Amino acid sequence: MTPRSTEEERLQAGGAARARADRTPGGIPEPDSTTPGGTMVDGFGRTVRYLRISVTDKCNLRCVYCMPEEGLEWLRRDEILSYEEITRIVEVMAPMGLTRVRLTGGEPLVRKDLPDLVGQLSRVPGIRDISLSTNAVLLAPLAQELRAAGVNRINVSLDSLRPERADRIARRPDVLNRVMEGLAAAESAGFDPIKINVVLMRGENDDEVADFAALTRERPWHVRFIEVMPTEANLGLSAAQTMTCGEALDLIGRVDALEPVEGPEGNGPAAYYRFPGAAGTIGVITPMSHNFCGACNRMRLTASGQLRPCLFGSIETPLRDPLRRGEDLVPLIEETLRIKPEKHLLVQGSASGSGGLIALSQTGG
Ligand code: SAM
Ligand code: SF4
Repeated sequence: MTPRSTEEERLQAGGAARARADRTPGGIPEPDSTTPGGTMVDGFGRTVRYLRISVTDKCNLRCVYCMPEEGLEWLRRDEILSYEEITRIVEVMAPMGLTRVRLTGGEPLVRKDLPDLVGQLSRVPGIRDISLSTNAVLLAPLAQELRAAGVNRINVSLDSLRPERADRIARRPDVLNRVMEGLAAAESAGFDPIKINVVLMRGENDDEVADFAALTRERPWHVRFIEVMPTEANLGLSAAQTMTCGEALDLIGRVDALEPVEGPEGNGPAAYYRFPGAAGTIGVITPMSHNFCGACNRMRLTASGQLRPCLFGSIETPLRDPLRRGEDLVPLIEETLRIKPEKHLLVQGSASGSGGLIALSQTGG
């Protein structure tokens, strides 16, 4: 069997697991016929229940694939949605069918008093799941408070298990230590599942794929490899250093057999596998090599209050100013849902499909 067919077979088997997971998102109850409220269905028949909320465009790291080292213009404070405004938008969307939110950024933990927002969101009727994406550098002292406030799942970004390399990729010092402290605190606080996101970069961390996978043998973590998506800021990298998840699976498959499994709760775009008897799983997120837009269940709210039906592309609806003017947001949300694109138009090595996006930190990746 050629390596290519091996990776295709694995991804297809994983895709089946992903499709099953889409129908039965483990652990998170979805509305049933007894649940009051609407359903948000887009023009392609996809049901949207999930909103990713960027609480800030700022970050304490400068990951090479995400942000330029300098030159990004920051939003002014008055341009950023307040916690009350974010909560108000979620209150409007929940009766329309929203059940799950994820807080992201930029780095969400650089925004002050994040547990206050979590508390507000957890009291919105209909919201059953609040999750967080973080680089975990600031997580250790906040983990307990975030959990108590209502965050139940956490995704941590980490691209190398080697200290100097982790610093070089993040362009900031002492990253690995602090992320590991954050992960330990997340475990002690009872977060389950804990997912670790690793962006694949050829020649940068491809020699660590097996080490990351090995973490799942002992720890109940879900390590997910992500293909780099091109933006204006990372064109050089995304053109020259792209590596597919299929290649990563082949590298791992040389170490031990992998079996496709249903992933942890929070049905997202990942397909999951497991080493026999392992405590955790290995996931792959393949925006470039295997488009998963057909199962997309989400919209995004940027820190400045733009509702985006897709991470990429230029479609966005400003909600902030209509909200501040006291206008009805429902028709604006319905229209954004109606024009949700069928799929992203990203092409490796080109920023044209990103819709002029400079960095994922701007929209909340
Ligand atoms: N700062 C938080 C973090 O790093 O997890 C949340 C925001 S970050 C934009 C969300 C996720 O997007 C991270 O897992 C990050 O690795 C991923 N990401 C950022 N830029 C990316 C790109 N160009 N291609 C693929 N993934 C990217
Ligand atoms: Fe910051 Fe996350 Fe982007 Fe890294 S991936 S620069 S941590 S927003």
